[in-house]
Amino acid sequence: MRVEIISCLQDNYSYLIIDDKNNIACVVDPSEAKPIIEFVKKNKINLKYILNTHHHYDHIGGNKELKELYNVTVVGYKNDAHRIPEIDILVEDNQIWKALNFEAKVFHIPGHTSGHICFYFFNENFIFTGDTLFSLGCGRIFEGTYQEMFESLNKIKNLPENTNIYCGHEYTLQNSKFCIKHDPNNIRLKNKIVEIKKKIKKNIPTVPSILKDEIDCNIFLKAKDLDTFSKLRDLKDNF
Ligand code: ZN
Ligand code: FE
Repeated sequence: MRVEIISCLQDNYSYLIIDDKNNIACVVDPSEAKPIIEFVKKNKINLKYILNTHHHYDHIGGNKELKELYNVTVVGYKNDAHRIPEIDILVEDNQIWKALNFEAKVFHIPGHTSGHICFYFFNENFIFTGDTLFSLGCGRIFEGTYQEMFESLNKIKNLPENTNIYCGHEYTLQNSKFCIKHDPNNIRLKNKIVEIKKKIKKNIPTVPSILKDEIDCNIFLKAKDLDTFSKLRDLKDNF
């Protein structure tokens, strides 16, 4: 099983989880259909599932077209069935979703939206965090509370440290500026920023990020309590 990163729209990432042995794939958050179609055509892959982390247009924009073309099955959070286009399979918190050779644990991680989920592929050590955890940042709180977002991030934080984080957007460089401002003496963060800049320069995605790095460098994961977290989130909104 491997992950292919597909750039979409301005700064979105969709991800193909590819089972090379059987030549099949799932796509996480297809922002738009076109780049996904191009990739699966070129590589002759059978697209089987769409996994949606949340209902925002830049995460579900390709659902309809991909379903029409490939008859894919759409997986999303049960309480968001009314706003995830073409949804077929409704999943809930702590459920294991298993189909063909794909197996992931679903966590309900509200805050950015009330129905945000992530898909944790525990066999492969990767997680798709949508707009909840970004590399060196976290999503804006639109529908939830600070407490919900704080708890959602803590759920992810408690996973094995070598977990690969695949997030919904390439915001890493911008996020790093906020982190270093509030954590200026963090040597690990400084080193990470050097790596990030190298990648951006070469047009290479900064994802996946390793959870251990996020725990050490992401100011939102470093926040010790809800109050600290909330203040940081407010400051970031106006950064
Ligand atoms: Zn979003
Ligand atoms: Fe988004």
